[in-house]
Amino acid sequence: MGTETANRESVRLPTFLELGFSALKREVVDKGICSLCGTCVAFCDKIVIEAGESKTAELPEFVEGYDTVCGLCYTFCPRTLLPLAELERRILGKENADEDVLGVYRSCYALRSKRADISGQDGGAVTSLFAYALEAGLIDGAVITVSDDHWKPMTKVATSYETLKEGAGTKYTLYPSVVGVKDAMENGCNAIGFVGLPCQIQGLRKVQTVEQPYEVGREKIKLLIGLFCMENFKEELLAFVNKKVPLEQMQKVDIKGKELQVYDKDGKVHAIPLDDIKEYIGDGCSVCGDYTAELADISVGSVGSDGGWSTVFVRTEQGEAVVKGAIENGYVEVAEIADKGLGLIRRLGTRKRKNTQTNE
Ligand SMILES: Cc1cc2nc3c(=O)[nH]c(=O)nc-3n(C[C@H](O)[C@H](O)[C@H](O)COP(=O)(O)OP(=O)(O)OC[C@H]3O[C@@H](n4cnc5c(N)ncnc54)[C@H](O)[C@@H]3O)c2cc1C
Ligand code: SF4
Ligand code: SF4
Repeated sequence: MGTETANRESVRLPTFLELGFSALKREVVDKGICSLCGTCVAFCDKIVIEAGESKTAELPEFVEGYDTVCGLCYTFCPRTLLPLAELERRILGKENADEDVLGVYRSCYALRSKRADISGQDGGAVTSLFAYALEAGLIDGAVITVSDDHWKPMTKVATSYETLKEGAGTKYTLYPSVVGVKDAMENGCNAIGFVGLPCQIQGLRKVQTVEQPYEVGREKIKLLIGLFCMENFKEELLAFVNKKVPLEQMQKVDIKGKELQVYDKDGKVHAIPLDDIKEYIGDGCSVCGDYTAELADISVGSVGSDGGWSTVFVRTEQGEAVVKGAIENGYVEVAEIADKGLGLIRRLGTRKRKNTQTNE
């Protein structure tokens, strides 16, 4: 039995292949726990999440009358069943037996970009790591989330350094970024990198590992960079912020302590108490206990390091090759993370997990 488990290529779930979108709708969407990750949409042409230039990101909908009940949407959704221990064994090589909120990791660092033309949210680590991975040929496209001049997010497939740089910076509204993976496949990419939130990494890990009979191109997904995430916000947040700072004047948005900090183009910081924007938190975030993107190859956040640096956890062999290569080839500089920094991440991660349990 042990040998069979070790040799199996895929994570075995109970067979969901007779469950279609109506089951997904009933058990996830209608229960208000959909995180708008976009995984179901990316792998089924019959499901849409209205989003884009003039539209608000809505919940997933079925757009054709006839459901083939192929089961992919139900199987891939991170909110149906998430066999964490098995995913950890398969992807990270071991289980997170003591349920540490930092997840299983091989090493952690503070990283900062050495490229003068990368101005990231924190240390520009994500953009720089992808730049190395692209230039070293480890990936041939990176799915990034950019925004328009009114801060509406959208995905882009970056196959060049110039496009990659457009992704830098955090967009604090929900967007089904996993759909960009489908675009990357359609654009002919064979080695895809993706950056996104913990729920999106969970969805893609299911795509990569669960046992199912269809060819969906999962072997093309090569590098997953996960962002730390306490919560994300509905698009209505932008209209609220616009009343304080016109969106076209916004340069950067950050969360520090108990404030949303909006930087305008003159460098002035406008602070909005998080209590004032609670109502905009995504419904699906209420059941999410993953703060540090525990299933990513590399996880990146701001908490834990000094300003201007990114905190980076390396979780897999592939992640290690990218981070080491980026350091050795002069893309990023590296510093240690103090125990105090790790303690702070643990405190926040524990708080998120406790809130989730209260909501269950
Ligand atoms: C919604 C959200 C909540 C976050 N919450 C926390 C937190 O609680 N604590 C913490 O320490 N860090 C948090 N982060 C991460 C932090 O804001 C930075 O993204 C991270 O430190 C990387 O910074 P960087 O300078 O290395 O990345 P950069 O080089 O600036 O690159 C950032 C990358 O993130 C991607 N991205 C931006 N917005 C989104 C989005 N909405 N969805 C998917 N991808 C996106 C872009 O494609 C870009 O490639 C959050 C990020 C997001 C998007
Ligand atoms: S959580 Fe993701 S996969 Fe599940 S229904 Fe929502 S968008 Fe689809
Ligand atoms: S809190 Fe969880 S569900 Fe919400 S955006 Fe972050 S990772 Fe996704």
